[in-house]
Order: sequence, then structure tokens, then C-alpha cells
Amino acid sequence: MSTAKPRILTGDTPTHTGLHLGHYVGSLENRLKLQDQYDCYFLIANVHAFTTLAEKPAEVRANTIGIVKDWLAVGLDPQRSTFVLQSEIPAIAELTFLFAMLLPFNKVMRNPTLKTEIETKGLGESHSFGFPMYAVGQCADILTFRPELVPVGEDQEAHIEMCRDVALKFNQLYCGVGNRVVPEEHVKAGGLFPIPKAKVGRVARLVGLDGKNKMSKSLGNAIFLYDDAKTVQKKINKITTGRQSPTEPGDVSNILMQYVDAFIGGAGDEGYTRAEEIKRRYGAGDNIGDGHVKAELGEAINKLIEPMRVRRTELEGERGDAMVQEVIRIGVERANVVAEETLFLAKKAMGLEFGRRTVSLAG
Ligand code: ATP
Ligand code: MG
Repeated sequence: MSTAKPRILTGDTPTHTGLHLGHYVGSLENRLKLQDQYDCYFLIANVHAFTTLAEKPAEVRANTIGIVKDWLAVGLDPQRSTFVLQSEIPAIAELTFLFAMLLPFNKVMRNPTLKTEIETKGLGESHSFGFPMYAVGQCADILTFRPELVPVGEDQEAHIEMCRDVALKFNQLYCGVGNRVVPEEHVKAGGLFPIPKAKVGRVARLVGLDGKNKMSKSLGNAIFLYDDAKTVQKKINKITTGRQSPTEPGDVSNILMQYVDAFIGGAGDEGYTRAEEIKRRYGAGDNIGDGHVKAELGEAINKLIEPMRVRRTELEGERGDAMVQEVIRIGVERANVVAEETLFLAKKAMGLEFGRRTVSLAG
């Protein structure tokens, strides 16, 4: 593991057994590209999964294993990158509490990402105290690893903004960084935390199969990376656009055309040209039916995810489970070295350090 490279932190919450196409175009693709240039930390937010699944611990555990398998299947490499299991990193929980004091309560509650989630997940008034707390926790997830970049989908931008606020405030309050110092210069000016930047993926927000909300694991509107070829095609066939015939001029920004851009247009130069042609003919009603587009789309998506599906199948069963266990063990050990260092430095800056503890990583 090189420490000279700048760091990246990003992750997924195990609220479902696996990842979907939105994750792929929104974040995984970037992670794959950046694995060599950066020292990457990929976090599984299994504690945060309890914000909506507190009554289903076995599900969270199974989902956690499923997500690691998906990462491996997609090509994230535990040799080059560090897989971080949130529940095994005590420094994250401690920093969450300390950071909570740097964020005004009302600002957290007004966070647009949280508000949307409360609405779309139907949590209403009944959400736990811990639910909005996860947004503060996410600041700790990120800052624990002092990364420069955070590859995320557009829905997470408000969270990254909050995380930047925390880092700026911490550096100013406890590290003597002046109010006028620009974010890029904070570390040079003595700040502990680089002010991290969001890196939004090729598709900032992939719309779900409902054509309305973003594709989400918890909203029943996703195509999963491990869906078999038939399921993929079936899900696509169910998309409704309201268009009646191949000669009716179609809306080139509807869900089908967004998918054409993402999955046909995204496949190199040839794909781009083909996507442009489909959109032109669709917009003009030039004898191109929704059924035809759906078939071509299903084929393109299946071509993209087929190698992942094959690798994911290979990881099924006990051998795969054992591999996941080992990947987590190694990742946790590496991650705790960085996390403990950050916590020590943060507590020192805050005047809270009275003797460095050692975390037992044995067993
Ligand atoms: P949940 O419904 O439980 O919130 P999710 O599908 O939103 O699950 P997360 O684990 O919350 O998945 O998100 C993981 C990462 O994937 C985040 O960086 C998020 O921005 C990105 N992402 C998730 N869905 C999409 C999407 N539809 N388009 C682009 N990026 C996405
Ligand atoms: Mg989400």
C-alpha cells in the first residue's frame, strides 16, 4: 500500500444484497478507473444500514457479504485498495460524536439528501434519532481517511458539502487555520483534514425503472448487477413511456433515452454514434419503436454486466464467503492504522489526548 498517493474514500450501505446499475455508472466506474492513481478506501456502511434495518441484523450481515462479493465481481481489487468495514473501525464512531458538535442541528435536518430519503423511503415522522445521525457519521467515514476525492452519485453531493463544512471548521477551530485560507491550502496551512471534493460519475443520477426516483436499492426500481439476462430484459420491457407507435415523435429525455445514453452511448465511440442515431430517430418518430429500443438496450446492458455476473456466480457459496471474510480482515487491519492515526491527531488538536491507546487487532 502506497502512502504517497492521494487518497480516495467512498462506499455503499448494505441495505440490499447487492449493487445496481446506478452504482455502476454513478460511482463504481470511477472507482475502477482511479484504483491505480489513488490510495483507495472503499467503505461498507454496515452500521448505517441499521438506520433503516435495525430490526433485521441478519439481513444487514448477509447484505454486507453480498456487497463485498459485488465489489470483487466488478473488479475492485483488495490488493490495491483497502476494503473498510465500518463496524470494525472504532475511530469512526468516536469522530462522529466529535463532529456532531461542529454541525448545527437545524442544518443537518434541512439537508436535502436526508429530506428526500425520508420522503422516498416512506420514513415520515417515525424515523429513528439515528437516521439523520448517519449524515454526520458519513462526515466521519470520509474524514477518518483524510481523502482528497470522494467518488459519489449526485444524490450525495449535499452530504459531501456538509463534510467539507466539518473539515473547514475543524481546521479553523483546532488547527489554527485562518478564515481566509482557501480550501485547497488548508493542509499546507496546518489543517489536519484536506477539504474533500465530490467526484460525480459519468451519469450523475441514473433514474430508476419507475422513471421518477433515482435508481435505489431500497425503492424496488433497480436492475441489479447480478440479475440474470432474462430478468434484465423483463425489467426493461416493463418500462412505460406512454408512446403509442414507432412513428410518433418521442421525448428524447425520457427514461428509455436516458438509458440509451448511459448504456449504449457509454460503450465507446461506436456506442456513442449509435446512441445519437437512436435518439435522432426516436425524436423524429422515424420508424423506431419502444420495443426495438428496449431489445437493443437489454442487449447492451447484458453485455456490460455479463462478466460481472460470471465472477459473482463464482463467489457464491462457502468458498466465496471465506474469501470475503479474509478480504475484510485484511482491510480492517490496514484501515485501522490510518483511522487510529487520524483519531489521535484529531484528539490532540482538540486537547482531548491523554495517552495513546492501542487497539487490539488480534483474532
Ligand atoms: P439506498 O436506497 O439504501 O439509499 P442506494 O441505492 O442509494 O441505496 P447507496 O449505498 O446509498 O445506494 O449509494 C452508494 C453510492 O452509489 C453513492 O455514492 C450514491 O451516490 C451512488 N448511487 C446510488 N444510486 C445512484 C444512482 N441512481 N445514480 C448515480 N449514483 C448512484
Ligand atoms: Mg442512498
